[in-house]
Amino acid sequence: MTTTEFALSDEQQLVRTSVRQMLQKYVPRRDEFRRMQLERQFPQELWDDFARIGLLGCLVPEQYGGNDSGLVTLTVAFEELVTQGFFPGLMLVTSMDAACIVKNGSEELKARVLPQITSGKMKLCFAVTEPNAGTNTFRIETVARRDGDVYRLNGQKVFITGVEQADYMLLVCRTTTVEELQREGKPKSQGLSLMLVDTKSPGLTKTLLPTLTSDGAGQWQLFFDDVQVPADNLVGAEGGGALAMFNSLNPERILAAAICSGMTQHCLDKAVVYARERRVFKDTPIGAYQSIAHPLAEVKIWHEAVKLMMYRAAASFDAGMDPLQVGTQSNMAKFLAADLVTKAVDAAIETHGGNGFSEEYGLINLWIGARLFKTAPVSREMILNYVSEWDLGLPRSY
Ligand SMILES: Cc1cc2nc3c(=O)[nH]c(=O)nc-3n(C[C@H](O)[C@H](O)[C@H](O)COP(=O)(O)OP(=O)(O)OC[C@H]3O[C@@H](n4cnc5c(N)ncnc54)[C@H](O)[C@@H]3O)c2cc1C
Repeated sequence: MTTTEFALSDEQQLVRTSVRQMLQKYVPRRDEFRRMQLERQFPQELWDDFARIGLLGCLVPEQYGGNDSGLVTLTVAFEELVTQGFFPGLMLVTSMDAACIVKNGSEELKARVLPQITSGKMKLCFAVTEPNAGTNTFRIETVARRDGDVYRLNGQKVFITGVEQADYMLLVCRTTTVEELQREGKPKSQGLSLMLVDTKSPGLTKTLLPTLTSDGAGQWQLFFDDVQVPADNLVGAEGGGALAMFNSLNPERILAAAICSGMTQHCLDKAVVYARERRVFKDTPIGAYQSIAHPLAEVKIWHEAVKLMMYRAAASFDAGMDPLQVGTQSNMAKFLAADLVTKAVDAAIETHGGNGFSEEYGLINLWIGARLFKTAPVSREMILNYVSEWDLGLPRSY
């Protein structure tokens, strides 16, 4: 038993076993799945199995078709999937969106949408980033205006992952512009709204961005030209989206940390097997050389620390702790996990020498995926800003 398993209940540890069992039939086809990922083909049968073993219902109460087993459980499942070489990219956004709907949606919306999510019939993506706003969400310009039973949506988004695979996107927009707020003497944190937008809506144009990622989904630029969204698809109160959104980002950060943690374990497993077997001088395995062993040992030590932080953040979310405190914990866990996974991939590549760059060993393609987590879904700079301001009480520079 590793030190971090003390942090998990028997039930939560069993999730790891059931994910491993579910994956048994896919493990011999790992190369096929890796190829599908590179070609951005959606692994529908794997998704159906996520639904079958209840992973899509972890953050959803039973009355809406979920199992309410919580974020710690889902975190463990994510870790195990990635450790075994499978990527749960769209499940991350679908789960965080589901959690947001559970906390903020109307009864009618929850009853309509959540059972579809938990059964695997509805996939979701998340759309906040805009070209002129970037990290500064309050600066977004996409506007939704109420017109009878619908909102009319105009604007654009960029870098939106998985639009081609998702049925709906949880979109962050303005229902009051910054200029209107200024005129009324109100802060720019007001006037943001969340709504579910059908990804096949007339008036929505999608352009695939030529990004290099390894998560099996594309990044899209989206243009909204008078897209009609049923008013019933509003998530939370009109204009009250800021709080709903920031609270929903905590599960996103924790699950991103879980992907990093799984990828770290995947790299360690591969590196250790290789280091025990590869011999180039006399009959000494390269793992006996401290220059190979110590970086791996260091990754192992940091990994235990990352897992403790990550499980604690997930447990705090499950316990309904103050979102600001969960924010600190989940940001810190994601910060450490993202830094660690780049070190882990690098150490595994170094251990494999030239083979670290061959497609067969499947390491070099992990590099881009690992590096991404320093930038998205939240950059390490913005986490440092968050901790400086909220935990150290230092003034903002921006
Ligand atoms: C592969 C990929 C997938 C993505 N998927 C999605 C998605 O599904 N949905 C979605 O909405 N978005 C998505 N994004 C967008 C992602 O969240 C943003 O790229 C990220 O938040 C940074 O925004 P930006 O690119 O505009 O950078 P900018 O805001 O231009 O920032 C550039 C750099 O400056 C730093 N910086 C900015 N302001 C400050 C400050 N005040 N203090 C210190 N440093 C600062 C940033 O940390 C960053 O390093 C994705 C991005 C990528 C690359």
